Amino acid sequence: MADSLKVRLAEVHDRITLAAARSGRKHDSVRLMAVTKGFPLAVVQEAIGAGLTLLGENRVQEAEQKFTGLTGVWELHLIGHLQRNKARAASGLFACVQSIDKLETARALARCSAERGKTVDILIELNTSGEESKSGYRGTEPMLRDLELIAGLPGLRLRGLMTVGPLAAGPDRIHGAFAALREAFVESGRRLGLAHFDTLSMGMSGDYEIAAEEGATMVRLGTALFGERGVV
Ligand SMILES: *Cc1c(COP(=O)(O)O)cnc(C)c1O
Repeated sequence: MADSLKVRLAEVHDRITLAAARSGRKHDSVRLMAVTKGFPLAVVQEAIGAGLTLLGENRVQEAEQKFTGLTGVWELHLIGHLQRNKARAASGLFACVQSIDKLETARALARCSAERGKTVDILIELNTSGEESKSGYRGTEPMLRDLELIAGLPGLRLRGLMTVGPLAAGPDRIHGAFAALREAFVESGRRLGLAHFDTLSMGMSGDYEIAAEEGATMVRLGTALFGERGVV
């Protein structure tokens, strides 16, 4: 098990390096997140042991169960939809919430973070695939309307944008979705003029090389690192 993670990690690093180089980028401009959702605590510990300290979970409750009481150094992000009634728990658990797709959710999280005297990083999620089942702002325009209000909330620090690419689509559509997120990111950055607006989170196990080519600064990988979920 330990060996297979090492082997997979080396391959992922190689692929990211090559993909980034195809667009003239350096491999260290792409951060690697290990997505531990659906994997048991032992996998989380193995990941941390392998130096994968940027971790992602998609559900507040599952993250709470696995990470409360865990020792070590890590940075945990929420990558799944946040319900408003989970904002309090989320503000305690996560360094970053990548899935902000409503002003009200951002406000609820801001209130809870401020109460804790904490600053939580956030990304705004954009639905670039047009798939109904996906969360995220539907289109760049509604996102841009809320952008400055969200950026101004105390207790939060707006770091960038996130998307989930189209599932089971050909490379052209995936390129298109990621390019659209990059364009929205550039436009948002121009409007905000914030030095810390620096994160473009896109790409999963099936499409991270395309994401790295299209300018991702963070890719989020589960199965490419740990194998299929539920087979552990
Ligand atoms: C599950 C998930 C990932 C990782 O998916 P893999 O296909 O296992 O790499 C990345 N991002 C989000 C938002 C997810 O829900």
